[in-house]
Amino acid sequence: MSDQDTICAVSTPVGEGGIGIIRVSGREAIEIAARLFRPKQAGDIRASRSHRILYGHIVDPGSAGVVDEVLLSVMRAPATYTREDVVEINCHGGMAPLWQVVRMLNAAGARQAEPGEFTKRAFVNGRIDLVQAEAVMDLIRARTELSLRAANEQLRGGLSERIEALRDQLVGILAGVEAGIDFPDEDIETPTGGPLRDAVQGAREDVGRLIRSHAFGKILREGAAATIVGRPNVGKSSLMNALLRQDRAIVTAVPGTTRDVIEESLNIGGLMVRIIDTAGIRDTHDMVEAEGVKRSLAAIEAADVAIVVLDGSEPLHEGDRRVLREVSGKNRIIAVNKADLPRRIGLIGDSARKVEVSCSSGAGMDELRDALASLVVQEGMAAAEHGWAVNERHRRELELARTALDRALETIGRGLSPELIAVDLRDALDHLGMIVGATYTDDILERIFNEFCIGK
Ligand code: GDP
Repeated sequence: MSDQDTICAVSTPVGEGGIGIIRVSGREAIEIAARLFRPKQAGDIRASRSHRILYGHIVDPGSAGVVDEVLLSVMRAPATYTREDVVEINCHGGMAPLWQVVRMLNAAGARQAEPGEFTKRAFVNGRIDLVQAEAVMDLIRARTELSLRAANEQLRGGLSERIEALRDQLVGILAGVEAGIDFPDEDIETPTGGPLRDAVQGAREDVGRLIRSHAFGKILREGAAATIVGRPNVGKSSLMNALLRQDRAIVTAVPGTTRDVIEESLNIGGLMVRIIDTAGIRDTHDMVEAEGVKRSLAAIEAADVAIVVLDGSEPLHEGDRRVLREVSGKNRIIAVNKADLPRRIGLIGDSARKVEVSCSSGAGMDELRDALASLVVQEGMAAAEHGWAVNERHRRELELARTALDRALETIGRGLSPELIAVDLRDALDHLGMIVGATYTDDILERIFNEFCIGK
């Protein structure tokens, strides 16, 4: 598949809609579209100025029959999404005319685009770097205000700037080390020993800070997994419903991986919290006890955060104590429910934060939500403020860069030759370069852009 081809794809989601948009990009985009488009006003889109919208019809060149009434935008390189000539055709009809127009574009010489190929071209043609290309994907998938803001910040170049600053820092250190190699006898100020170690150590710490932002990035992209646990009848379902009533995220009710697990997404303070509800926990009384416990343990294991529900209107049960023991090693909140009834629970004896709530009256729900949000962000907030939120791929490269810097520090510590230090510094630089795409392999590109939808 050549990057020289002109490509086309339906860029709007499959299904019924008021309009559907077909995007064409490449050297021949305008020429190919011109063969199918009959403008209402006399003229030819080949002569049209850039960034103009024209009204007309798509006409089948074979039968001369009208396929659809369209608005067509002509955008000339380089001020386009791909930096190539781009034509966008806003079709009126449903999927049938859209596909027919695509088939006609194929026949006229524009091939079907691969997933993410438009964005890949934006990268290959130097309009955006790899981190920004990945942000496009994050933007499409963002489900809360905060993840949207982070994706926009990354698209604007926030994370890229951070990585580039780190690369500059390392290039500076490397230049000093190499000057010492090339002109060993000259009186050049080269960093050695202490100052060199401090500089590399500083870069290593910056890399570490970025790595730590990964935990928050994961929460931004995938949401934090919370599970509601407690013995039967304490009010787990009621709590889930109370939370859902107010905070249901844009997309909800994602069916879980197993038949018994239901996942709902809440939007809590701009963060997505996926609440995992297991039938196993809720319906323990209908099930062999051991099976219920097994499932609740699995749900707790998979969760980032546990919400333990206790019934405040009854003395603490043995079942409550068992649940508290199960989650004792977890990030957790204790929701003491049924606060509308007289309190009879007594001492709970757990160091976790406790919030009195009533699912019936709604009392305490705001406090519970705040507690949940602060539990989820704990570490990540500093990263969020800077708009850094590295993804899994970035994290891997950062870890490799840090390992290379560790080797450099060891080499410096042992007083070995500057050549060896330079090798490690260059290695670290390469891994940082992989993040933004200053260095990349086809393999990396394929992995990133295959995640995209067709038409983006
Ligand atoms: P689960 O088995 O833990 O999921 O508990 P449920 O959500 O099914 O609730 C058990 C019972 O407690 C139901 O009869 C609820 O109506 C009741 N319940 C739940 N929350 C409250 C509350 O805040 N106050 C009172 N008075 N009753 C509640």
